[in-house]
Amino acid sequence: MDVRDRIRHVVEPILTKEQKSRFREYYPEKIYRVERNIGLVVAGTQFCMMLIFFFLKGDYVMEGDGRFYLYLYMYLFLVTVILIPVYMKLVKQKKYAVLSWLRRGYVLAMCVWVMGITVLDQIHGSGLGVFCYLIPTMAAVLLMSPAESLVIFGGQWMILLLILTIRGINPDELFSSIVNSFFVTVLAVFISMRYYRSMEMEFRDRDIIESQYKEIEKVNEKLSVMVNTDQLTGLNNRRYLSEVIGCKFEEYKKQNCFMEILMLDIDFFKQYNDTYGHVQGDACLREISAIIRECISQENIVVIRYGGEEFLIMHCLPKDCHRIGESGSGESMADCIQARIRKAGIPRNDTFRDHVTVSIGIWRGWLQQSDNMEKLISHADEALYKAKKAGRDCVQYYMAMP
Ligand code: GH3
Ligand code: MG
Ligand code: MG
Repeated sequence: MDVRDRIRHVVEPILTKEQKSRFREYYPEKIYRVERNIGLVVAGTQFCMMLIFFFLKGDYVMEGDGRFYLYLYMYLFLVTVILIPVYMKLVKQKKYAVLSWLRRGYVLAMCVWVMGITVLDQIHGSGLGVFCYLIPTMAAVLLMSPAESLVIFGGQWMILLLILTIRGINPDELFSSIVNSFFVTVLAVFISMRYYRSMEMEFRDRDIIESQYKEIEKVNEKLSVMVNTDQLTGLNNRRYLSEVIGCKFEEYKKQNCFMEILMLDIDFFKQYNDTYGHVQGDACLREISAIIRECISQENIVVIRYGGEEFLIMHCLPKDCHRIGESGSGESMADCIQARIRKAGIPRNDTFRDHVTVSIGIWRGWLQQSDNMEKLISHADEALYKAKKAGRDCVQYYMAMP
């Protein structure tokens, strides 16, 4: 990295305009606990100082400049105690714009306090102790933008400078006070900028991770749809049956659902392929799939391309459902599919019928705790076999052996 790169690295804005507006809502949530605790510590120390001044330095407080120290302790104590609940309320109400004004106001109030103590210390020849440790500490714990810290700390230093020079306080130490307070101010601005930039970087990194995570989630969603979907027909595939319905089936059993399983198979499809070719065969499969989809009116009905030209329809009705036997039930779905396929009249002249037909086998019944899905599907398959034997292009039901 050459010098220009280094400068660009430090000066270049970290966040975009859009990110900046979100950042203003992000950091108050992140730092409010720390800032509240700092407020409590400040209020606590001011209270202790008030007590110490009052009890240990009683005479001094009443007679000399000591009372000004006491006033300053009382001032910061009251400001902090009043602002903490306001601050908490604003965080709760998410009023971030007002909150940042409150923070600026509090930093200013602290600066006034630091200046007051510093001037009093200077009058008593005690040096810049409070100024030197409190200004950098404020910069490290109260979040301010670089511009804010520059204006607040820089402005405070200049006012201090004016007070010390114009009022001629502690002239012997004036030069060293000016130089020391200047370096402390520069240090505070630097610390404040670093703090703000590190928060911005944290937010940017979090933003990048979040957007990447969303991308991954989207891709995962697409992938899961892809692996569960049959490419040719767009229906669910066998994997969906085992992975998704397999899990739901246990739930259906627990709820004692009424279930209907329809197994549908295109008649003489091998012959259709042999006569019209596989491309035409694929088109036929797509058309039949579309017809099946049209006949499925409810969301709780699942259609699966079970095999080459076999389709499985599963319909689960809750125990107290009144629609059993009504539209949407296995019987009416089968009738609807048969009627629409007849109406579509997909032509063929290689069999005694002049259009493509399907046979349907149905198993229907209440789910028992002992049932397993494969067994019930095989019952529907047996019913389909019956339909084939009965001459095809018809619907047959599974009858349990007496
Ligand atoms: P049946 O009336 O007894 O059902 O006779 P069928 O000829 O339909 O039965 P069979 O199971 O012997 O034939 C299924 C045929 O389905 C075999 C295969 O050529 C065809 N097939 C399976 N998958 C596809 C596919 O993805 N595209 C095409 N075009 N044909 C397929
Ligand atoms: Mg077939
Ligand atoms: Mg078949």
